Amino acid sequence: MSSSKIITVFGATGAQGGAVAESLLSSGSFSVRAITRNPESDKAKALKGKGATVVKASMDDAESIAGAVEGSYGVFLVTNYWEYNDKEREVRQGKAVADACKKAGVSHLVYSGLELVKEITGRNCDHFDGKGEVEKYLDSIGLPNTSVRVSFYYENFLSFSQKNEDGSYSIAFSMNGPMDAVSVKDVGPAVAAIFSKPEEFIGKKIGLSGDRKTLKEYCDLVTKLTGVSMTYIKMLNDDYAKLFPGSDDLAAMFHYYEFGNPVRDISLTKKLNPNAKSFTEWVTENKALF
Ligand code: NAP
Repeated sequence: MSSSKIITVFGATGAQGGAVAESLLSSGSFSVRAITRNPESDKAKALKGKGATVVKASMDDAESIAGAVEGSYGVFLVTNYWEYNDKEREVRQGKAVADACKKAGVSHLVYSGLELVKEITGRNCDHFDGKGEVEKYLDSIGLPNTSVRVSFYYENFLSFSQKNEDGSYSIAFSMNGPMDAVSVKDVGPAVAAIFSKPEEFIGKKIGLSGDRKTLKEYCDLVTKLTGVSMTYIKMLNDDYAKLFPGSDDLAAMFHYYEFGNPVRDISLTKKLNPNAKSFTEWVTENKALF
C-alpha cells in the first residue's frame, strides 16, 4: 500500500538510510523517495523493486537537493563522513539539505546526528563534530527536526575484526569502559516510529542503543555464541590514534565514549522499535557471518 505522504530518504542505498527506507516501505504509511547519485546501481534498482521512487541527486549539488525534497512531508538525512574524511564538506552537505527542506516547507526532518565532541572533551572528533554543527544549524533555522544519534554498529565487529591464521579473530580499540552499540538495521523501525509521531519527537535528540557492554564483554559473547574466538586488544588511546588514517578520529570518539558521558537510551530505543536486538540476539541471529 502506498501513501500520499512522501518521505525522502538520503543515503537510501546505504546501511542507515537503507534500513529506514525498508521500514517506511513496509509500514505502508508513507511513500519513499530514495535518493542516490547512481540510480543504475543494484541497490537503487532493488529499492525500486520494493516500491520506492528512486531519484538521482547529490548532497553536493543544491539544485538537485531542491528537486529531491520538493513536495516531501518528511526527510531522513544521513551524511557519510567516511567517504570524504572532510568535516567541512559534511557540514556543507547537511546545511544544504536543511536549507532546501526549510524552503520546501518540509514538516519533519529526521537527521542522523551526533554530538559536537570538541565542545565536550576539547578534542577534535571530526566525524562527530560536523554532525554536531549541523544539529545546531537545524535548530537555529527553525526546521522541525529530530536527531537520532546512532551508537557504534554491532556490524562493526565484523568489519573491524582481523582474522588470524588459526581462524580466530582479534579486534583492537582503545577503551575499557562500557560502550553503547546497536544493529544498524534496528535504526530503520525506530526512525519510522519517529516519523509516525512527530508531536512526540520533534525537537528531541535521541540516542539509539540496543546494548551497553565493555568491548571485552562483546568479544566474549562472540566467542561464546559462535564458537569462533574473538579477542579484544585494548590499545592505549595515543597508540590507536596513530594506527591508520582516520584512527585519530576514532580514538577521539573512544575517549568521548569513555569520559564524555554520552546519552544513549536503550529503553526508548526499545519503545520505538520493540524488536531492537541485544548484542546476544544479534550475534545469535548472525552466527554464520563470523
Ligand atoms: P553507507 O552504508 O556507506 O552509505 C552511505 C550513503 O551515503 C550511500 O547511500 C550513498 O549513496 C550516500 N551518499 C554519500 N555521498 C552522497 C552525496 N554526495 N549525495 C547523495 N548521497 C550520498 O553509510 P552509513 O553507515 O549508512 O552512514 C554513514 C554515516 O554513519 C557516517 O557519517 C558515520 O559517521 C555515521 N555513523 C556510523 C556509525 C558506525 O558505527 N559505523 C555509528 C553512528 C554513525 P549513493 O552512493 O547511492 O549515492
